[in-house]
Amino acid sequence: TFLVNATPIHDHQGESRGALVSFDDITQLEQSKIELERSQLELNEMLDNLRQSSDEIRRQNRELEQLATRDPLTNCYNRRSFFERFDTMWKSAMRHNHPLSCVMVDVDHFKSINDNHGHSVGDQVLQRVGQVLTKTARESDVVCRYGGEEFVVLLPYTNIEEAADAAERLRAGLENMKFPNLSITASLGVSALRLGAMDPQGLLDQADKCLYVAKRNGRNKVVRYDKVPEDLV
Ligand code: GH3
Ligand code: MG
Ligand code: MG
Repeated sequence: TFLVNATPIHDHQGESRGALVSFDDITQLEQSKIELERSQLELNEMLDNLRQSSDEIRRQNRELEQLATRDPLTNCYNRRSFFERFDTMWKSAMRHNHPLSCVMVDVDHFKSINDNHGHSVGDQVLQRVGQVLTKTARESDVVCRYGGEEFVVLLPYTNIEEAADAAERLRAGLENMKFPNLSITASLGVSALRLGAMDPQGLLDQADKCLYVAKRNGRNKVVRYDKVPEDLV
């Protein structure tokens, strides 16, 4: 490859006398340019691949995180990740003297839904229960599927009064759910920090006791720990 320069030569009268032509051999330079462009293309391709695989790794990590922390049927937190979050919230609430409450939810007579409509309808009901609880709870609340048809909602920065109101909203939300040919209700137990529980499990036990008081007293009710008569606890 040559770089060619041509200049006309004129005499004093301006008559054309010839031309001066120079040839620069730039073969090497051109080749290096082509090689540089090629390596830039290769580099871009590598960057693209790298970006794609890091997107893929991020997607897989999200999927793994989902599998490890969520209940596959309802997409609510599973017990393991619930207890992890509970521990963190408990410690933080104790350290900074913040309120923290917990609501236990158990669908009433759920066995009869399975018996009358089949297990797969039962599953769909549980999915919808999870959705209603999640939608009704605050963004910062932790909604967990605790077991079969039992759920727990943790309410950070929430005292027993506010938690009882929230539980009432959850109860009403579940009662108002529309299904083609069935309806459900649930019983709820509420407790909060500083009502005597020594640890997260203690708080759950208090809420659970309230839940059973609600069951014994006709179901479709919210019972709070600070309002349960001594002899019933
Ligand atoms: P109560 O009002 O006293 O709570 O009565 P219940 O029928 O809701 O309570 P019980 O503990 O007798 O029955 C719970 C039922 O929930 C029994 C079990 O088969 C059903 N169950 C548990 N997990 C699942 C699930 O993942 N899918 C379905 N469809 N049913 C489930
Ligand atoms: Mg139950
Ligand atoms: Mg039940």
